[in-house]
Amino acid sequence: MTGNIIEKEKKIIKTIRIDVDKCNGCRACEMICSAFHSVPKYSSNNPARSRIRIIREPLRDLYVPVYAGEYTVAECAGRDKYTIDGKEYDECAFCRASCPSRDEFKEPDSGLPLKCDMCEGEEEPLCVKWCMHDALILEEREEDVCDPSESIEQEDLEIGLESLADKFGMDKIMDAVARMNEKD
Ligand code: SF4
Ligand code: SF4
Repeated sequence: MTGNIIEKEKKIIKTIRIDVDKCNGCRACEMICSAFHSVPKYSSNNPARSRIRIIREPLRDLYVPVYAGEYTVAECAGRDKYTIDGKEYDECAFCRASCPSRDEFKEPDSGLPLKCDMCEGEEEPLCVKWCMHDALILEEREEDVCDPSESIEQEDLEIGLESLADKFGMDKIMDAVARMNEKD
């Protein structure tokens, strides 16, 4: 007899690992990203349009690539300063968000937020391809595709339990469950 084996669908997750120690601040990644995203493609290369930016302070020997992430409408209420290897970084230095309190990751003409799209349509992200120093490394991993109905069912169950607990109290519910187990 053969059992039914339900195979979960898989998806490939692509990420770019940043090796900060290898970055020398050449900005080739910013150039190619902005050129790829110009309209028409490769018609200009303004780094202000890039979805990756290099925190670049040569006098302090400081070069850190940061990718553009999601847009946020609200500014953070609290901020942090970072000190790494004795070097201090600005409070918003590593933030990936396009946000109202700064100009990073905004299209210079329209002010619209920019977000890394992994160079949609290309085999390999272009910043990875153009980084001659291996500071940007493409990594891929497989993940199960989550079935949205499973999480909705779980959510429904939790909401149901919560309202029962509100109505009867947790002790009564635990007693009822114990009695049901005894019957089994
Ligand atoms: S291309 Fe590579 S080495 Fe050059 S700035 Fe970008 S991440 Fe750094
Ligand atoms: S992956 Fe593509 S879109 Fe994202 S920062 Fe690199 S070049 Fe730009």
